[in-house]
Amino acid sequence: GTPRPASGAAAAQLRQRLERELDEIRGAGTWKSERIIASRQGPHLRLAGGGAGACGAAGNALPRLLPVRSPRFSLSLPAGIINFCANNYLGLSSHPEVIRAAVEALEGFGAGLSSVRFICGTQSIHKDLEEKIARFHQREDAILYASCFDANAGIFEALLTPEDAVLSDELNHASIIDGIRLCKANKYRYKHMDMQDLEAKLQEAQKHRMRLVATDGAFSMDGDIAPLKEICQLAQKYDALVFIDECHATGFLGPNGRGTDELLGVMDKVTIINSTLGKALGGAAGGYTTGPKPLIDLLRQRSRPYLFSNSLPPAVVGCASKALDLLMESNAIAQSMAAKTQRFRSKMTAAGFTISGKDHPICPVMLGDARLAAVMAEDMLNRGIYVIGFSYPVVPKGKARIRVQISAVHSDEDIDRCVEAFTEVGRKHGALP
Ligand code: PLP
Repeated sequence: GTPRPASGAAAAQLRQRLERELDEIRGAGTWKSERIIASRQGPHLRLAGGGAGACGAAGNALPRLLPVRSPRFSLSLPAGIINFCANNYLGLSSHPEVIRAAVEALEGFGAGLSSVRFICGTQSIHKDLEEKIARFHQREDAILYASCFDANAGIFEALLTPEDAVLSDELNHASIIDGIRLCKANKYRYKHMDMQDLEAKLQEAQKHRMRLVATDGAFSMDGDIAPLKEICQLAQKYDALVFIDECHATGFLGPNGRGTDELLGVMDKVTIINSTLGKALGGAAGGYTTGPKPLIDLLRQRSRPYLFSNSLPPAVVGCASKALDLLMESNAIAQSMAAKTQRFRSKMTAAGFTISGKDHPICPVMLGDARLAAVMAEDMLNRGIYVIGFSYPVVPKGKARIRVQISAVHSDEDIDRCVEAFTEVGRKHGALP
């Protein structure tokens, strides 16, 4: 039915206050709008309403378009674009076997559990997936959450008391920051990947019962990888535990895609891993913690986002479980993504751009100026290349960039078209000579 706004002075005041705040966000130029996709997630997309740009071949790659019912959207326009801004690193989000596994789980186990895990929300597929995650990471046990945001929100409070300390990289993901806020441990923030600063903070934190160093394995804004070897050495020296968030590493970093700890040879030194099922591992949703069995047992007793939130839906469990099967069978998909990443990074560097990070499919094209990043991203979309510009406050002032994310399902032609478009747009706007 038509909306019936709440009446009364308080509701009117609230509306006014919210409108003012929204105007401030618009005024600050930090408004985030959402483009509406009318196809499955993948290297080639259709934007609802025609979007911007047209890419002749793009539609061919779409297995089946979802109907968009709103009369505002016309799907008759050729609006195919090449997508370089999803975390679909391995292209499993629309993999036929992943979709089939979801359908089978839906049919076999229903739409959902209508329950938290400890009441009547645990099915055999949840236990199987937890066992598979632990095996994948070579850990003792794993626990599922509705998201990695929840996994990060739950772990610190359950594990650390006011007697303990947590040492966190200043550029850690928002969910780690929020999780740490929720716990009562003593908090130390060290400069981004700065081992001297971490050591100084570890020395300061010697007075506490237990120390936990928390870092993203790979940082999503810069595509840089935490120096885990050095972190683990310091942790050993100062008797600390290491926690890593592997959302931008699980499935594709390291020789077998196990993540940053495998890449840097410290699988036996990192105690706790949190990661997501919502990026490389099928992209549906869900998160987890994997590590020592007593820790996982404790999380099942104490972790609030686990205890007080619904079980993962069976279709979502089916997707992730199949994604892990595919990765444990072969590392060919991860290797193909690494080769494409290398192609993009080397061609862009040769064209004169600066790409932050190293060997990671997150390839931030550093531009500096916020307006330049915004107009270039818009112009890229006009050429059928979907990329997103990031500027302050998401990244530091003067460090605006366009973030490109490579996927195993991009073709070499897709990558080359992206580089060509960047070169044209960069010349046009003065980012290249
Ligand atoms: N940690 C990192 C580093 C992330 O990038 C994200 C997602 O953006 C999350 C945690 C949250 O993951 P999820 O989407 O599963 O909640």
